[in-house]
Amino acid sequence: MLNREEIMGWLRENDPERVAELYKQADDIRRENVGNAVYLRGLIEFSNMCSRNCGYCGIRIGNSSVKRYRMSPDEIMQCAKKAVSLGYGTVVLQAGEDRSLPVEWIVDVITQIKSLGVAVTLSLGERPMAEIKKFKQAGADRYLLRFETSDRDLFEKIHPSLPGERSDRIQILRELKEVGYETGSGILVGIPGQSYESVVDDILLFGDLGLHMLGVGPYIAHPQSPIDVEPLPEGQQVPTGVEMACKVVALARMACPKANIPSTTAIATLDGIAGRTQGLNCGANILMPNLTPQKYRELYEIYPSKAVLSEEGAAQSLADWFKTIGRYQGEGRGDSPAMCH
Ligand code: SAH
Repeated sequence: MLNREEIMGWLRENDPERVAELYKQADDIRRENVGNAVYLRGLIEFSNMCSRNCGYCGIRIGNSSVKRYRMSPDEIMQCAKKAVSLGYGTVVLQAGEDRSLPVEWIVDVITQIKSLGVAVTLSLGERPMAEIKKFKQAGADRYLLRFETSDRDLFEKIHPSLPGERSDRIQILRELKEVGYETGSGILVGIPGQSYESVVDDILLFGDLGLHMLGVGPYIAHPQSPIDVEPLPEGQQVPTGVEMACKVVALARMACPKANIPSTTAIATLDGIAGRTQGLNCGANILMPNLTPQKYRELYEIYPSKAVLSEEGAAQSLADWFKTIGRYQGEGRGDSPAMCH
């Protein structure tokens, strides 16, 4: 694993040839540890209801212009069946932090999807650990919870705690691992106020936590959710954008060689298929096609103009694309081969 100075050196590297060398090293580590398969996860954004007011997110509770929805269990099952018919081994259930969603409702949805024989990943934000354990007992396999930034002051500004609670995602991640979840986290790159030092800390923390999945994306401002933090002076502020996000993907691969790492939708939003390809070429081995029905998809606007990896009729074009980059679609669940240390 790289040390603090080496990570900082790569984050600040601007010479295109050197950056290409970083990507190549990460790509080699990816091939040796998780091979050439690209696993597809079917993403279902089943509710945009949210109790939180995160400064970065378009569906925060304070954005009153959002029309709220929650899909019915039947609608969710239709999407999950589509994932199965497309050969995906995993369904990802993502939502706003919908605290009014009853635990039994979620347990029932998990149980139904598990009967299809796929892995279930949850991305529901922070919920009481007693509930998270019930989801595990119902068969949920994985949990995604980005800590967004390890800079505590910045985190509190962009992700205010709920009254009477202290939001501590890093502690929750430790507990998720103890409960037996395949555990994923990650960060936003280019948040106003985010320093290079803090991103070095984030990457070291990926390794310390021994995460099984890591998602990294550029921060994309939402017009109705402006982050109320001044950017740091030039040279200290981490820029958003594809290159900085890809550097962090590469360094995440080095920190957790056996982790499953997506080429994220946020990267594709900034640079289309070229961005997706770049992600896959600098350490990523996962894609998350969106299976949310169109009428709901446009209401799940965590940031504007979210890219869509079209799943319909696209199986052949996906296969062709993978071939051009020396990859192929993984079969089965695509569990993370191991803890990262
Ligand atoms: N409610 C869940 C799911 C949130 S959406 C949770 O809180 O975990 C998943 C991820 O999208 C977030 O963790 C965040 O890193 C990312 N995201 C949110 N707003 C974004 C924005 N404006 N630009 C880029 N990524 C964003």
